[in-house]
Amino acid sequence: MTPVLDLRAVRKVYPGTPPVESLRGVDLTVHGGELVAVMGPSGSGKTTLLNLASGLDRPTSGSIRITGQAIEPMTDRRLSGLRAHRLGVVFQQFHLLDRLTALDNVATGLLYRGVPAARRRAAAAVSLARVGMAHRAHHLARRLSGGERQRVAIARALVGRPCLLLADEPTGNLDSATGAQILALLRELNDDGTTIVTITHDPGVADAMRRRIDMRDGRIVRDSGSRP
Ligand code: ADP
Ligand code: MG
Repeated sequence: MTPVLDLRAVRKVYPGTPPVESLRGVDLTVHGGELVAVMGPSGSGKTTLLNLASGLDRPTSGSIRITGQAIEPMTDRRLSGLRAHRLGVVFQQFHLLDRLTALDNVATGLLYRGVPAARRRAAAAVSLARVGMAHRAHHLARRLSGGERQRVAIARALVGRPCLLLADEPTGNLDSATGAQILALLRELNDDGTTIVTITHDPGVADAMRRRIDMRDGRIVRDSGSRP
């Protein structure tokens, strides 16, 4: 089966004096159905890895395939298209639009696909139900709790039925009980077939995932491999 994500000898250098070598040769293959935790101290390159895996940024060298497609030859426009159709991304700070309802926030996840508004909202309602937020659909985002906001952000990332869900410390801004609920949700979504790669600094969280990767200084130093 074609891997959902495949990185070969990926390096990322940020220019500057001195330049920062954020990734120093990363090889990583993720298959459909996996649930992967990426751990590592601050500055070890986790966010850089996620930005590359989600096509938000490009490597300095090495190759990246997202759902089998090499991104190097792609124009920025095609890469954005690939992102919109295949990937969902969740950030630590939610990035919701405060003045919109939960439903409309989720519907924005389909804006770049040219889906008509009525269908966007219908799909958004389904996605909100999937994360247990149907009852808050018409609440303004700014009136939601942190855990609810993160659920809405996950619903937005999932609304286009992506092949891969990437999350950067999705529990980083939540208290531990709420964080645990978000993790339970990620596990549930994975049980339903969603492939997930999530960054976390919490070893308890990582233990709940099926595969754990540890990073240090821009390299993968440990990979538990897939656990059924
Ligand atoms: P982590 O998410 O594990 O904390 P990052 O991927 O954010 O690590 O950062 C890895 C290294 O790359 C750090 O030294 C960081 O300062 C540097 N870095 C990250 N993004 C940039 C950038 N846009 N410009 C310059 N340096 C960066
Ligand atoms: Mg980070």
